[in-house]
Amino acid sequence: MKSQRYLPDALPVPEVNDVNRAFFTSGEIRIQTCQACGSVQHPPLELCCTCGGFAFDYIAGQSSGTVCSYTIVHHPTHSALADAVPYNVVIVELDQPPGVRVIGNLVGGIENRAEIGQRVVAGWTTPIEREGQAPVQLLQWHPI
Ligand SMILES: [Zn+2]
Repeated sequence: MKSQRYLPDALPVPEVNDVNRAFFTSGEIRIQTCQACGSVQHPPLELCCTCGGFAFDYIAGQSSGTVCSYTIVHHPTHSALADAVPYNVVIVELDQPPGVRVIGNLVGGIENRAEIGQRVVAGWTTPIEREGQAPVQLLQWHPI
């Protein structure tokens, strides 16, 4: 599912590096899995929080989950957000792998509201072009 950005286009996109490239450019939920111990972790880091390993695979996570927390932001933290408030930020626990939580915005919520326990499915923004780099796609959650 592709959609326009929930937040304004003027808001800078995350810096893409070797660790987070799979998550921001694949258009699917890619979860970091340690090659040494098999632990999964998100957000992706340069080392495994369980064993200290440095080598990872990136497995596809399930695109559905449950809102386990959310907030409504009323004060813009960036000038590009001045006209976007209030907006929501949700934390979603994926159906698989268990225990993995992913932050995003809930698109199509009623008056920017979310509910704990609400079932959601992942969608991605249309690719955001960046000069000389792979386009970024941002995760956005949609009500099921
Ligand atoms: Zn590990």
